[in-house]
Amino acid sequence: MSIRQETLSRINGIDIGGGKMGVRQETLNKIKGVELKKIDMPKKVSSYFGENTFSITAMQKYLSKNTFDAFKKWMSEGVTISKDQADEIANAMKDWAMSKGATYYTHWFQPMTGLTAEKHDSFISITGPGKVIEKFSGSKLIQGEPDASSFPSGGIRATFEARGYTAWDPSSPAFIIESQLGKTLCIPTIFISYHGEALDKKLPLLRSDEALSKAAVNLLKLFGHKDVKKAFSTCGPEQEYFLIDKNYYNLRQDLVMTGRTLVGAASPKGQQLEDQYFGTIKERVVNYMFEVAEEAYKLGIPVMTRHNEVAPHQYEFAPIFEESNIAADHNQLLMEIMKKVALRHNMVCLLHEKPFAGINGSGKHVNWSLGDDKGNNLLNPGDTPEDSLQFLAVLAAVLRAVYLHSDLLRASVAMAGNEHRLGANEAPPAIISVFLGAQLTKVLDVIEKGAKSSVSKKDIIDLGIARLPRFNKDATDRNRTSPFAFTGNKFEFRAVGSSQNISTPITIVNTIIADSLDYVADKIKKASSGKDFNTAALQVIAQIIKETKDIRFEGNNYAEEWVKEAKKRGLPNIASTYESLEALTKEKNIALFEKYKVFSKEELVARYHIWIHTYDLILEIEANTLVEMVNASIVPAGYEYEKLLATNLGRLAELKKVAGMKLDTAVLKDKVEHLKDVSSKIYYVRRNTGEMVKLLEKAHTLSAEKRAELYFEELKPLMDHIRKHVDQLECVVSDEHWDLPKYREMLFIK
Ligand code: ADP
Ligand code: MG
Repeated sequence: MSIRQETLSRINGIDIGGGKMGVRQETLNKIKGVELKKIDMPKKVSSYFGENTFSITAMQKYLSKNTFDAFKKWMSEGVTISKDQADEIANAMKDWAMSKGATYYTHWFQPMTGLTAEKHDSFISITGPGKVIEKFSGSKLIQGEPDASSFPSGGIRATFEARGYTAWDPSSPAFIIESQLGKTLCIPTIFISYHGEALDKKLPLLRSDEALSKAAVNLLKLFGHKDVKKAFSTCGPEQEYFLIDKNYYNLRQDLVMTGRTLVGAASPKGQQLEDQYFGTIKERVVNYMFEVAEEAYKLGIPVMTRHNEVAPHQYEFAPIFEESNIAADHNQLLMEIMKKVALRHNMVCLLHEKPFAGINGSGKHVNWSLGDDKGNNLLNPGDTPEDSLQFLAVLAAVLRAVYLHSDLLRASVAMAGNEHRLGANEAPPAIISVFLGAQLTKVLDVIEKGAKSSVSKKDIIDLGIARLPRFNKDATDRNRTSPFAFTGNKFEFRAVGSSQNISTPITIVNTIIADSLDYVADKIKKASSGKDFNTAALQVIAQIIKETKDIRFEGNNYAEEWVKEAKKRGLPNIASTYESLEALTKEKNIALFEKYKVFSKEELVARYHIWIHTYDLILEIEANTLVEMVNASIVPAGYEYEKLLATNLGRLAELKKVAGMKLDTAVLKDKVEHLKDVSSKIYYVRRNTGEMVKLLEKAHTLSAEKRAELYFEELKPLMDHIRKHVDQLECVVSDEHWDLPKYREMLFIK
């Protein structure tokens, strides 16, 4: 039976057993949506939102009033609770979790790998021979020791003191993760060494928020808000992702091993028609989105919007913003949910920054702002001249922070996956700049020119900044190409990679802005002593606007002219991960992080080493996967097809010679050309792969830094080169022999 007939038989429900089809074609036949069991979730989200979290409301129900009040005081003012109170909270947490059916608990943390980690323990304690009770003490709640000698520490821990400790982070509520056969209580924790060094992504974030709070409160006091006690960063991360059918995924060892396709010819139809962006969402995908949202809501994750993205099979979830610490935990959880739920729908969720070449990659737009405990957003332009002035002071601080520390922002998004994206045609370039929009730019221009020696309220009104226009999100005034864009009442850091843990980018944003808020406050304080406050403030702002002008760019960040212009302005444009990460080892940056107690020198340098090392490992996994694909799948497919052509040609030549078959030489020549073409493509694939193997061997003698350099400068171009020939081969080899699912199938057949 031919493949077509086999397919027809199957459609008609006739089982024809193993036929002639290639693996890929059989797989194509298996693609179908899963039959969904109707899940009876309550219709109203509010009736179950956060039901699997030990929220403030749940706590209040399970705790004595004294302990509950003490806990709240701890959160708002930092007054630590007693050991007895910790025991009571642990017990309450256990009772609550058991009432929900949990039998295990885990300290949940975010090691420097960027993933999340868990070590599960049962609640049971032995009370006698064959007898157990469920017990959970305050000490177990507060501190755990996951014997974590295999987590990367970047040299912070010597092996003889390899222990890492997890410590409860009470600012993020405990939650329950459900799996089919049981439930686990997860307790958000930080992860530290015996000497208290941060071994995770979370502790630095908490520290940076503290630094930011101090600096913001200080500035607010200067502007007359004496009653503000606390400020914090807020974050709403927009999460992009791809979905593909699991059957394809399983046949692509590159996707399984590396999360991205290492080969694959472009599909004739890609995203050029832009017919997917915000288009109708396919039913199979909508079902998936419903279930993701439900799972998220149970955990109190406020997923808000969902839509199709630009590339085929690319989508986005965006939550309502929260305090950064919670937003970071929630984003990690959301990514886990997205992956888990996809499998239930017979799909795989790809979070890699560039799963498919030639079409858009995925990012995570980190929306960032600064809030205070009075409910104000400090990046809100404000209603009165005083408010406007304060807004401009904060804005000036942001501009200065990005201007001075764009190297750190670049480093915060430096990773192997994102390297494919930054500077490619759809993502922000590796050049960091700030976009403010036409209105705000005009205001800054006026201030810059008009900084007078004395300014009255009326002058401020004349300057046009009394009531700064409400910068409501306005589609006409949005620049989607900017890596750091002002979008109404927040900044959007768009260079973050889709798979990244957002803690580090936020930590860095928080710290550099804390530093600049201090700078601005200090300058205004000095300038205003004995002078009019508004005049002094406006002069300081004008000065900063002038000094930091080079960081502002309103045009198209993807254009070639910007690269030239940025070079003229002296803005760094670093394409590689290894060079970007060097920012973490610069003395001025170490001093900054030490000043704000966010990272010690050791902690920062440890991160540098871990991230370089991770980059090396990822590239080695990719290269080795490619070697195997070439040797075990691509070249054999080529040989099979080559054999077919050669046999064919041989027979024809023979027929011509022996049987005198009339055959135009041009016809034979054409067949020879075809065969030659296939053979030479196989040859190039093999030759370059051989070179790559040699390069990998050579790399093993080098330091991690040198390896990262070699991989960026030589290995990646070589991999691209191999890919080019493989993709050409894919376009000539017959479908019957090519077993790797093609782009046009993975991206278009639903
Ligand atoms: P777009 O795709 O146009 O950028 P979205 O509405 O998809 O806009 O996403 C905007 C994101 O910004 C949402 O996640 C939202 O919660 C977040 N956001 C809004 N206000 C703030 C704020 N003050 N601080 C941090 N994030 C915010
Ligand atoms: Mg956005």
